[in-house]
Amino acid sequence: SKEDIHKIEDYLWEIPKTFRPNMRVPARVLASESLLDAIMEDRSLVQLVNVASLPGIQGASLVMPDVHEGYGFPIGGVAATLYPDGAISPGGIGYDINCGVRLLTSNQKIEEIRNNLDALSKELYIQIPSGMGKGGHIKLSVQEMEEVLLKGAEWAVEKGYGVKEDLAFMESKGRLENADATLVSDMAKKRGADQLGTIGSGNHFVEVDYVEEIYDETTAKAYGLFKGQVVVLIHTGSRGLGHQVATDYIRQIIKAMPNYGIEVPDRELACVPFNSEEGQNYFKAMCAAANYAWCNREVISWEARTAWRNIFGSTVEPLKLMYDVAHNIAKVETHVIDGVQTDVIVHRKGATRAFGPGFEELPDSYKAAGQPVIIPGSMGTCSYVLAGTARSKELTFGSCCHGAGRRLSRTAAKKQVNAPVLKEKLKERGIFVEAGSFKGIAEEAPIAYKDVNMVVETVSDSGIAKKVAKLRPVAVIKG
Ligand code: 5GP
Ligand code: MN
Ligand code: MN
Repeated sequence: SKEDIHKIEDYLWEIPKTFRPNMRVPARVLASESLLDAIMEDRSLVQLVNVASLPGIQGASLVMPDVHEGYGFPIGGVAATLYPDGAISPGGIGYDINCGVRLLTSNQKIEEIRNNLDALSKELYIQIPSGMGKGGHIKLSVQEMEEVLLKGAEWAVEKGYGVKEDLAFMESKGRLENADATLVSDMAKKRGADQLGTIGSGNHFVEVDYVEEIYDETTAKAYGLFKGQVVVLIHTGSRGLGHQVATDYIRQIIKAMPNYGIEVPDRELACVPFNSEEGQNYFKAMCAAANYAWCNREVISWEARTAWRNIFGSTVEPLKLMYDVAHNIAKVETHVIDGVQTDVIVHRKGATRAFGPGFEELPDSYKAAGQPVIIPGSMGTCSYVLAGTARSKELTFGSCCHGAGRRLSRTAAKKQVNAPVLKEKLKERGIFVEAGSFKGIAEEAPIAYKDVNMVVETVSDSGIAKKVAKLRPVAVIKG
């Protein structure tokens, strides 16, 4: 109950370690008071408290204001465990390994393309395969699959499905070095063999937006954003391949856990020490799946670029990658904990990395601004670009929210929403929706999500990220 939650400062709440005997650290919630009330309506905070019992967890278990309940760990959660023998838990990363978003920029203005929107959305729908289990244009051989898993987005560039200049503008440059393709099962590889360049279903999308408002001119300029500009937002992950990797290793880790004397309050938090054999196998397979996801988003960008050329011709400048961030991933990073530089395994599940100015991985043009943070809202409201700050390292292990966050379950949304009517309404407001099914539209209706403005106010007021630009949707491709 609310008596157990203490306010530490504006937007920061804590459930102390004494709340339950198995907690190793306090549990913290980043939220405004009204968002906190909303968060208390599902099991998110129970899950957050459970996460605080993970072996080796450091600082606090954390949730962002877009939190909602997920498999074991809440979605919108961050947990850092001590390197090298703290826990790694597949539930803290999620089934869609390296689900993430990227933003492509054009140099066209919305007024110039209003009349093309209907045709553009149809062309994007043709070029970008979508829908559950749907295959794409590329069929990977066994050898090619190995390369994708090891090279990530670079593979797409080598094969002509990508742009070399993009690589610097991706988290980890679109490739994790620890990937080991031999640890990805044949079943996973089979599921992924024809899914590169596909978005999948439900929550995944390709969306055309325009920059409605700029909050920070200097940073917007560094990121190449300007008012009225047309941009493309892409949200998807590692498809069937990543899902199978998660399934395979959750099974193994549940079995192996007792060998390490680990007990967790919920079976879905199954974990093993990071440096155990099972822990390393999962980590290396997860890195491989993450590479597949970066390659996937690069190939989808190529399809979007093709659609762009088909509609606007080759005289307009091709779409440019502004940035690509993961929001379901675990990484080894160094953070200051109780004043000491400490290596930790940071699990981000439905949370975006948000490192501040000076971070060495960033391209030179972004170094002064900090890392771009991309926060989708919904197909009927708006989305945001923010910039990471030094404060995020102090408060949230360099993390920020990843969306508005679900408010209604898919089933509840389907009951409440009349999809054909919604599609018409959106069209009246200048938003063209192309989707494989009305079911998908209903489940992803704007009312299914929290108010993204409130979520973004919370993260910007708390100082973990800085608002840069607001995006308005005009065309949405859904699975
Ligand atoms: P998730 O990765 O948790 O499935 O989704 C991330 C976020 O994407 C959600 O919290 C939601 O705010 C946002 N989202 C879902 N569908 C759409 C859409 O069609 N367009 C935009 N802009 N955002 C969406
Ligand atoms: Mn996903
Ligand atoms: Mn996602």
